[in-house]
Amino acid sequence: MRLGCHFPRRSFLTEVKEVGMRIGQGWDRHALVPGRPCILAGVEFSDSPVGPLGHSDGDAVCHALTDALLGAGALGDIGHHFPEDDPKYKNADSTVLLRKAWKLLAERGYILANADITVIAEQPHIAPQVEAMRSRLSSVLQVNVGRISLKATRGEGMGPEGRGECLTAMAVVLLKEEPE
Ligand code: MG
Repeated sequence: MRLGCHFPRRSFLTEVKEVGMRIGQGWDRHALVPGRPCILAGVEFSDSPVGPLGHSDGDAVCHALTDALLGAGALGDIGHHFPEDDPKYKNADSTVLLRKAWKLLAERGYILANADITVIAEQPHIAPQVEAMRSRLSSVLQVNVGRISLKATRGEGMGPEGRGECLTAMAVVLLKEEPE
């Protein structure tokens, strides 16, 4: 009697069957400090007293989404394509980096089925800008806004996000092969 193994006998472990869909996830966290512009998903929160610290503009939403897209394509990560020690990315507009990363996927024949983003932040207050952020991302990626979801939650006083020391963005994307 065989116990514990119900896998088919064929060598599925070595087969990579193209299924035409790819999933990717990204995560980013930036410290929040006074005196920095607060730009998230390419949208400025002009009344925020703090902004994300970073070599670029610190847009954690764009960074997480960029990493999710690159991950879906097995194309490395944002640090590989846009190194932090490269002076040309100092205070860089992260929507430009996002667009460049997405171009790599689009050139390989992928379309974005959907992206789902969660921002964890005590400040700034994200909710009033959610639709503007979705719209900006859909414009950057040139996809219908219905393919972009963005949600915000708070740390409830716990952890560095809850204490307002940082904000975190998480993104999941699903790519599909473009029909022939
Ligand atoms: Mg980042």
